[in-house]
Amino acid sequence: MKDLSSSKVSRIAREARLVARGLASTKHPILAHVIPMRRCNLACGYCNEYDKVSDPVPFEEMKKRLDRLASFGTAAITISGGEPMLHPQIYDIISLIRSHGMIAGLISNGYYMTRENIDKLNHAGLEYLQISIDNVKPDKVSQKSLKVIDRYLGYLSEDAKFHININSVIGGGVRNPEDALVVAKRAVELGFGSTLGVIHDGNGQLKGLSGVEEQVYKQLRRYGKKKFGWLNSFQDDLAYGRPHDWRCRAGARYIYICEDGLVHYCSQQRGFPGIPLEEYTREHMEIEFNTEKPCAKYCTIACVQQVAMIDNWRAPQQPFQLPENDPVHGQKGDEIADEVVNARS
Ligand code: SF4
Ligand code: SF4
Repeated sequence: MKDLSSSKVSRIAREARLVARGLASTKHPILAHVIPMRRCNLACGYCNEYDKVSDPVPFEEMKKRLDRLASFGTAAITISGGEPMLHPQIYDIISLIRSHGMIAGLISNGYYMTRENIDKLNHAGLEYLQISIDNVKPDKVSQKSLKVIDRYLGYLSEDAKFHININSVIGGGVRNPEDALVVAKRAVELGFGSTLGVIHDGNGQLKGLSGVEEQVYKQLRRYGKKKFGWLNSFQDDLAYGRPHDWRCRAGARYIYICEDGLVHYCSQQRGFPGIPLEEYTREHMEIEFNTEKPCAKYCTIACVQQVAMIDNWRAPQQPFQLPENDPVHGQKGDEIADEVVNARS
């Protein structure tokens, strides 16, 4: 990969500043996830984050949202979907993020990584790209397949100036769990980062790994000791179905903005708190920072867990059930608690 050393050094320095700012103050979001395009070119069987009909969010609307996130002091933005590369002004969106001094990341299925588009992403200032690959060959559940996009991975390896991470997955009924090993090895071979995701159910929660999945996980775990950077303690807990002890700071340090411009905890807890971004304030964030999330113990959302590491050592949280006049949750506090209990039973 032609990763110019100056851009790599600058990226690492910016990441270090993100952590330092995060440790120094709890008053700003560390990561915001934005959705400029809900539509996707694929239709993965386990996915609840796409449709086949929506239009792109107009650039002017995205600008208002990104300006507001910048005004909160947000350190990094990840663009996701659907498939965000279907947005006709995706490069302008990335440039705008960078013009605010925020770190710009993109999650894509990789189908549009032509040399021409990689060049445009370089010029727009993209800093991180994540591609999740579910299997080696397409099947009924998923076409996010190594064989289909391997050509594009080659282009990325040669041309991209941004960091690339390949996420292989396990769990959620993926047909050939051993594919995760093939995908991870290919990622390392191409000079990319490699992580392992545990696929969640429709509520962002874990379903225990099966016998074969567990065997593959153990192999990746052993291999990972030598080559991968993805080994986090929470993944061990998830793989073995153990509750994980952490403090989810969704709604504060991590916020998810859907295509309608509403703030949600995360992709799997949409509707909570469900407040328009233009009405979302630092007061909301402070309440969410200090509020325990009842879905935390079996959560599989890796990016929120990573963000939480900055604050896990401080500020113990209050139980989710809050007084009826609570400005953020109100009655919704009971609804989300019920929903999580139902999802677990
Ligand atoms: S490519 Fe991603 S967004 Fe599209 S259907 Fe598959 S998992 Fe969902
Ligand atoms: S614990 Fe946090 S990130 Fe995980 S599902 Fe619940 S709200 Fe989302």
